[in-house]
Amino acid sequence: MNFDASRRASLQLLAMTALQPALAAAGAEPAAARPTLKVVATFSILADMVREVGGQAVEVSALVGPNADAHVYEPTPADVRRVARADLVVANGLRFEGWIDRLIASSGYRGKVVVASAGIAPLQLGDGVDPHAWQSLTNGQRYAETLRAALAAAAPQRSAEINAQAASYVARMAALDRDTRSRIAALPESRRRVITSHDAFGYFAAAYGVRFIAPRGWTTGSEPSAETVARIVRQARETQASALLVENISDPRMIERIAREAHLRVGGELYSDALSPPGTAADTYLRMFEHNVRTLLDAMTPAKISDQR
Ligand SMILES: [Zn+2]
Repeated sequence: MNFDASRRASLQLLAMTALQPALAAAGAEPAAARPTLKVVATFSILADMVREVGGQAVEVSALVGPNADAHVYEPTPADVRRVARADLVVANGLRFEGWIDRLIASSGYRGKVVVASAGIAPLQLGDGVDPHAWQSLTNGQRYAETLRAALAAAAPQRSAEINAQAASYVARMAALDRDTRSRIAALPESRRRVITSHDAFGYFAAAYGVRFIAPRGWTTGSEPSAETVARIVRQARETQASALLVENISDPRMIERIAREAHLRVGGELYSDALSPPGTAADTYLRMFEHNVRTLLDAMTPAKISDQR
């Protein structure tokens, strides 16, 4: 062994000795006893993203749960207590949660509010901004990166696991993004037109080339007028939309009425602003996305239409 090699070996030994107490501590301590971050996310999709990125380092809950509509949500006294006890609050931003500022103020929470949509390119919708940015997997990857940075900063002692989980999550999103693009591009453009119950798919439309026609504005707060319904029925006929799709957070009766009047079929259910309950088809962000893509492809594929008409 020459001098350099022996020096390297002794340095390695030193480094290992220095690491030993830390390794022993980590090994001796059960995972459950390690400090976890209490994260409150505003709605179910965001809570799932935090869970994927944070893993064992977080304990996350959603204020607006599965199948519920965050646009018209009214926080409860229990929400106020939950936010007051949180280490970190995560919101979508883009004015999706109109109630969040008042909730934070009444809880007395003084911590950080992470805006998950930070850094995405917002789309305009009418006079405002379209808040549904998670409906593109390119944006989803941005969300994951924002969450990774925020969680790693809040729990620096667990940043290595958080970084690794985020990297794996982003890779899965990128793969699904590529797959979605190629499967939708394989359909003729004239088939890629559907009607949904609210304007929640602007980012999906822009990213994947599907045209969505919705009888409501950007929020679910108001019922469309008879004129709006008549206009949609006319549009559905004129544009030769492939199908109508209902959404998990909306009353399906409106879409069913339009379907009857426009002689179109209801092609399935899309998940726009909330996941499905745990254990069902769209209970994570990625499963929700896969479900939506599968439903859209089924609804837009010409062979399926011809046997319906
Ligand atoms: Zn919405």
